[in-house]
Amino acid sequence: MNTHKNRYSRSITDQPNTILIKDGSYIITTNDKDEVVVLRGKSIYIKNGVVEEIIDAGAEGNLLQSVDMVYNAGLRGGTVLTPGFVNAHSHPPMYLLRSTTLLSNDTATTEESLAVARTIEQTMTLDDQKYAALGDFTEQQKLGTTTVLSHYHTPEATRWAARKAHVRLVDAISMASKTDPSASLEKAQATFSDVDELISAGITIHTMERVSVEELKAVKQVMDAYPEVLLTIHCGETVTEVEGSLKKHGKRPIAVLHEAGLLSERLVLSHAVHFTDDEISLLVKNNVGVVHLPTSNRIHKSGQFNYGMFYQENEAQRVALGTDSVISKSKLDIISEAFQSKVMHQDSDNPVSYEELFKMMTINGARVLGMGDTVGKIWPGYKADIAFWKLKDRGFIPYDSENPNTLIGNMITHGATAIRDLMIGGTFVISHRKHVLVNESKLLADLQQRHIELRDRVA
Ligand SMILES: [Zn+2]
Repeated sequence: MNTHKNRYSRSITDQPNTILIKDGSYIITTNDKDEVVVLRGKSIYIKNGVVEEIIDAGAEGNLLQSVDMVYNAGLRGGTVLTPGFVNAHSHPPMYLLRSTTLLSNDTATTEESLAVARTIEQTMTLDDQKYAALGDFTEQQKLGTTTVLSHYHTPEATRWAARKAHVRLVDAISMASKTDPSASLEKAQATFSDVDELISAGITIHTMERVSVEELKAVKQVMDAYPEVLLTIHCGETVTEVEGSLKKHGKRPIAVLHEAGLLSERLVLSHAVHFTDDEISLLVKNNVGVVHLPTSNRIHKSGQFNYGMFYQENEAQRVALGTDSVISKSKLDIISEAFQSKVMHQDSDNPVSYEELFKMMTINGARVLGMGDTVGKIWPGYKADIAFWKLKDRGFIPYDSENPNTLIGNMITHGATAIRDLMIGGTFVISHRKHVLVNESKLLADLQQRHIELRDRVA
């Protein structure tokens, strides 16, 4: 069984190499034709962290005896299985800023509360950032997320926390930051070798007004030399930011990126609100990924994402969802972000369907992060990143059993608030609603203490 290694981590021991998930009541996934399907009465065979086969329940044969572990998903009222969700934009080390902004206080204006949060952020130590990131990742996991893009400037913190929590991470490190004046392309590049099975590398630019054309040329050279590395930028979030690019470069952000040769499937633009139709066409033509952040956009009064245009161009196949940080979102889940998106676009010419939202939560996110062939589906050949949800739950019940697709709408609109189990690369990270690897009780006590110390530091 799991043993305590130290205060925070427990080791992964006795993790089985072969697992049979028997009698999944429902599997919601995108199939090989990129259609969202709800499968009934299936079992899943997992070998070395990868889905090997989806089998009709009852036809498992010898596997029932030969596998290391049988997970009976048909017990306890049944289980809904979904791919683990993908969060394509977040700032995990900011987790300790919860309670500093208008999301917890009625008194401050948006600007006042953000100023307080930024002051506190500047005083954080490396240990604060480490435990903050651990708090962030584990909250996301408990809400069904298995893959995260982190946009920040503290690789020591994010990678330490990702390894403790066993989360799949694209760790994009800033070369032009708002909070870290020492950020540079060289420092970001120095982190490219510190990657593994779960962690991959990236570069971030806070906004286009913070970089010169020469620096963008250097980014392009580095990206050509490291074909696995992604670039992510806050882009088109606000009118002020677009004006900042015009002032710095004499051009709008997309034109600058286009001239630098950076529009490609390895570019991820977060927010993407203030783009013209021509700019959106150009992004789609070049397979650029975009991250839709409706809650953050509402809270910061950023504007309205043009979902319709992305849909008309290519069915919004490279539109993902993200949480942003705790100062821009309620809880750090992708489900409520999908619901927020549903509501935001409800009255537009192109309302977003539940199936499209489900893709944004899973395969689109994986695609945007360059993992579309291995992550984001429960399908043979894909990594076993699987969320196990209790079917007998108010987030699913009542649903129309004649039309089980109603489970997707129910899940997004009503709930699925807490996961029963969560698997990442075939490893159980959450079991019976508890994190297997992180002592959450200790972690929460520590986060509270660190938060108060931060408040004292700036008082
Ligand atoms: Zn952000």
